[in-house]
This record gives sequence, C-alpha cells and structure tokens, in this order.
Amino acid sequence: MTGRISTLPPPGPGGRLDASVPGGVVLHVRGRCAFRNLGGGRLVMLRQVHGGRIAFEPGGGEEADGMIIRRNGRCPALKLADCASLFLWSRNWLGAAHAGWRGLAASVVANLVASFPEEPEAAFIGPCILPCCYETGGDVRTLVIEACGGNHPPGRLDLVEAVRSQAEKAGLACEVYWTGLCTGCREDLYHSYRRDGTTARNIVWISG
Ligand SMILES: [Zn+2]
Repeated sequence: MTGRISTLPPPGPGGRLDASVPGGVVLHVRGRCAFRNLGGGRLVMLRQVHGGRIAFEPGGGEEADGMIIRRNGRCPALKLADCASLFLWSRNWLGAAHAGWRGLAASVVANLVASFPEEPEAAFIGPCILPCCYETGGDVRTLVIEACGGNHPPGRLDLVEAVRSQAEKAGLACEVYWTGLCTGCREDLYHSYRRDGTTARNIVWISG
C-alpha cells in the first residue's frame, strides 16, 4: 500500500473545493464547470487523449495525459468527467495525470511517478466514478487489472484502487488525499459522463 489515505473535508456547492495541504499546495475542484477564467490564467491544460504520455514543462495544448511543471506559479489542470486523476507535488515540481481506464492501461500513472524529478511530498486523487456506479466486465476490467493490480469488486472497477496500486508499484510511498466522493452518485456536485453523457467537465488543479 501507498502511505496513509486521507479524506478531504466535504466540498461546497457545485463541488467547489479549495483545500490547503502540507507543502504549500492548494487542491482545487470545480464541478460541472465552464473552465474559462479559472485560476487567474495560470492553469496549464493538455489535449487529453486517454494515453500514457507525460509532457515535461508543457506550454498548454500538448497532446498528452500527464504533465510535470516547475513550481513557478503555473498550475497543472485536468478536465475530468468520470476518469480518475493523480496529482503530485514536491519542493520544486507539480505533476498531474488523467487516469481513466485507457490511461491506466497505457501506464499513465506509472509514467508520471517514474518521471517525477523529486520524491513527492504527497499526492491527490481527484473525484471520479467509484465502484458503486462503475459496472465493467470483460476486456476493460481485465486490461486495467493487468496494468494496475489492486482489489476490485466482481464485475466492477475501482479506479481509485487502480491508481493507488499502479502508483505504488512505480514507487510512490507518500500520503494520498482524496474526496471519497463518486461522480456518478453525486449529481449535486459533479458532472458524470456515464450519467449525464454531455461534454461538460469537472476541472481539477493544484496550485502553489
Ligand atoms: Zn457511485
């Protein structure tokens, strides 16, 4: 297992979360969000393609599903519907990976952990769909379990467990924060692709 798993305080209306954590970092979540005018123009967003590539010091718009950015005021940000995510931080670096089942099968979490330049101080898994709402059989479930390991309920996938397990195998040993909430169950807070089917998104980023 990775280090301790810590559940963050409940979010406000609209899934809004701005949680200060050790290391001088703030974790931010906005549910069902139009992503203009967030973060004072400091958010760096990728063109997410459900792959395994990590962009190093991206300017924004690169085709990749993970990034590593020096701590200089810019913030790694992800557009998420039901997919999981992993954010990392250390003294000089911030990192993020978009980790749905395709990304996990492409080892995006392992690639982020392995290429992160310093020992991460702590990590954050953003809100995602949980096993209560993620019935998945057959090839998808097999691919993710082969790529990640972890314990998953029969006929379902636990994306948080998959992210933790793949990160741990890649060497992550720090404390991990998460919201403990399911995008599928919490229609009041988050967009869910499986439930809503539209192109809205939840935006998650870290600053500091
Ligand atoms: Zn659920």
